[in-house]
Amino acid sequence: MPELPEVEVLVRHLGPKLRGRCIQAVEVFAPRTVRPDSPETLKSRLHQAVFGPITRRAKFLCFLLTRPSGKSLQLIGHLGMTGRMFLLPGDPPLPKHTVVAFDLGSDRLVFEDTRRFGRLTLDTSVLEGLGPEPLSEDFQPETFRMALRGKSQPIKVALLDQSLVVGVGNIYANEALYRAGIHPRRRCHSIRQDETRALHEAVRRVLTEAIECGERLSLDFRAGTGGLFYYGMASETATDPNAECFAVYGREGEPCLKCGSPIRRLVQAQRSTFFCQKCQH
Ligand SMILES: [Zn+2]
Repeated sequence: MPELPEVEVLVRHLGPKLRGRCIQAVEVFAPRTVRPDSPETLKSRLHQAVFGPITRRAKFLCFLLTRPSGKSLQLIGHLGMTGRMFLLPGDPPLPKHTVVAFDLGSDRLVFEDTRRFGRLTLDTSVLEGLGPEPLSEDFQPETFRMALRGKSQPIKVALLDQSLVVGVGNIYANEALYRAGIHPRRRCHSIRQDETRALHEAVRRVLTEAIECGERLSLDFRAGTGGLFYYGMASETATDPNAECFAVYGREGEPCLKCGSPIRRLVQAQRSTFFCQKCQH
């Protein structure tokens, strides 16, 4: 599943390619993807609209567009479990799992989504009530500590709660706790001030490093290559030398990079947790 770094890399990749491009037509193949808008609403409101900057909020892509009337509007995208967005040059057949396609003249912006959990909508209400961005100034060690103090759930489960901090998914929650040396089962209110600070720093560092890793990849979005889209999906690109290596995630039974003990796995809130028994307390 794409996590925050993958979305950020995609935003940085698509931004300059889409800016100034005009939407000639919109094709919607999966009405569910554009809910609560109807395909007709999306088509008419986006007709002849011009792409401005793209930003990211949590795991949402926020496309700012200008309509021919001069009014601006925002299109919100979410990749769900399997969504991919890319430019398809020329006029080849659309990929089989295309859910929405934008005709930009010489090429098309394709949203492909095999499992169809993704979204592409004019409804911006999904952005309301989100917690602080982990890489922004809104995410401060002190407010993070205060939020944790009031919680009794295990820290690993709390990190996935989007009201505490947005965009930290399962992979990076595991990695950040390992970096900070905190056991995933620790109760939030038991975490000391120095540990909170270490965890705050670890969350920011693992996400920043993952974004830098993704930016080094040459994202090949050519049609039908099925190429490399998300470095987080290491299993699909296992032969790729750029495939990301995680310190604990997906490494059950393999030696800890710090102490050599086997990495353990447990299940918390139906999600796999990977950790080192010796290095995390
Ligand atoms: Zn260890």
